[in-house]
Amino acid sequence: MSEAVQKHESGLKQEGLQPGPILLLGAPGAGKGTQAQLLMAELGIPQISTGDILRANILHQTELGKAAKTLIDLGQLVPDDLVNGMVATRLAENDVQSGYILDGFPRTLGQAHWLDQYLERHRSGAPLVALNVYVPQDELLRRITGRRSCPLCRRIYNVYSKPPVRTGLCDLDDAVLVQRSDDTEQAFHERIKAYDASTAPVICHYEGLGRYRAIQGTGAVEEVQGRILQALRDLREQRNSTSA
Ligand code: AMP
Repeated sequence: MSEAVQKHESGLKQEGLQPGPILLLGAPGAGKGTQAQLLMAELGIPQISTGDILRANILHQTELGKAAKTLIDLGQLVPDDLVNGMVATRLAENDVQSGYILDGFPRTLGQAHWLDQYLERHRSGAPLVALNVYVPQDELLRRITGRRSCPLCRRIYNVYSKPPVRTGLCDLDDAVLVQRSDDTEQAFHERIKAYDASTAPVICHYEGLGRYRAIQGTGAVEEVQGRILQALRDLREQRNSTSA
């Protein structure tokens, strides 16, 4: 576990919440990455973003990165077997014992079924919970096209709603902020199409399992985080009363 994660253990962690696997679902631009980073600090468990892992592979020009780059730039999904393999490798690391936040996975029913089977084979403490962060489409577009991030500390900014103090530079480490190659309006429309076709059914899958909450993703980042933490408390109480 990184020092940053350990340092921030607080709140729900101190209340004794066993986080277990937490899925953050939601359309591109719903704020999953931002919320996952806050949750990671709150709960002391790692964020696992399949998008980030793919981008790291592209940066290092691995075979996986080469296979994924064109699809990502077009706003299309990377095939299930590649992404499932990547997640299996990440979940084999030893910082996931008390839980982890899956950000951007599963995105297809095939991935959801693969994860069900994986968790069946690797049973640990708390059961999986799924949180769907919902934001209207016009707001999603503004968030995507305005999004910039720091390549060093990964802090996320938005030129419209959360600009850095100095234009184009990270407030924390002065690095030049970057825009993702798929954060264009054209790729956004493709990503929404992929989301409606492939990811919306995943939400129905988790709704059916019962350990699911829809979270309103509009408003201040802190407000959304408050709703997420409340949903996790509710789900834990539901779990406790079921097991009592
Ligand atoms: P994200 O950073 O989560 O918005 O992901 C960026 C892009 O990476 C997506 O538009 C997809 O092309 C690809 N990607 C990320 N996660 C997955 C996944 N679980 N399944 C398929 N493709 C993915």
